Amino acid sequence: MGGGSWYRAGMRPESNQYRKIGEIEGIKVISKIEKRNLKDPREFQLPTYSHTADTMYLAQNEKGQINQLRIFTNNRAAIDFDWTHDHFSEKGKEDIFRVHVHEWDFSKEVPRSVARKITDAEWELYKDLFKKIDKRLHK
Ligand SMILES: [Zn+2]
Repeated sequence: MGGGSWYRAGMRPESNQYRKIGEIEGIKVISKIEKRNLKDPREFQLPTYSHTADTMYLAQNEKGQINQLRIFTNNRAAIDFDWTHDHFSEKGKEDIFRVHVHEWDFSKEVPRSVARKITDAEWELYKDLFKKIDKRLHK
């Protein structure tokens, strides 16, 4: 996810651009209402800002698979847990069920960090939820 323009384009409250399409363990799965290009993964990203100060949303990809948990702090994206794509495996050995992390820092030009591995503490905190989403998810 490189480039800066789409981050800016996404920096407005979710307003009515998103709708709830499901719920897992009380966490809403939301999706953009109007998608211009169904092949563009950006159309499936969650909003950068939330109306609720501290909340979480789940996203799903174009295939209908849940692929992201985004945690918001003070109405802004703070941390993303992603899977279905893998930054750490060798080419050709992608492990799509390994959860990884992107952190948000709005003082940066590109606020979303490069991927890092999930910590043991983060895994412990969210593993029950991850296992309910898909038993194959792992750290
Ligand atoms: Zn990633």
